[in-house]
Amino acid sequence: MLKDNIFQKIIDRQIPAKICYEDDLCLAFHDINAQAPTHVLIIPRKVISTHADLTEQDRALLGHLHLVAVKLAKELNLDDGYRIVVNCLDRGGQTVPHLHFHLMGGRDFHWPPG
Ligand code: 5GP
Repeated sequence: MLKDNIFQKIIDRQIPAKICYEDDLCLAFHDINAQAPTHVLIIPRKVISTHADLTEQDRALLGHLHLVAVKLAKELNLDDGYRIVVNCLDRGGQTVPHLHFHLMGGRDFHWPPG
């Protein structure tokens, strides 16, 4: 079922999370299995399973998610840089079927990402 995933349960406050930002469009919380000293997930409240499902209707929402990422990066002192990752579907390494941005910082990141 589309809404039956762990992030929807965090939105619905059915399971706890270390929430660091929320507004009427989105929510941000610390990743339970952080891959960097700072690792926050930014998710829309709207049910969007994956990046490939985005449509023209989501244009403003996407801009908003990016501006929230900028705001959080400042608040979390990622002044020297950070990485934003969106994993899409199986080959992209997506494990939770609710669109999310990974905002990571506090260490060096390399390229290619693997
Ligand atoms: P994906 O692999 O889909 O791009 O990213 C999913 C992320 O969600 C992973 O980094 C994983 O550690 C995180 N995650 C999975 N379950 C939970 C949870 O219950 N709480 C939190 N805070 N993060 C979770």
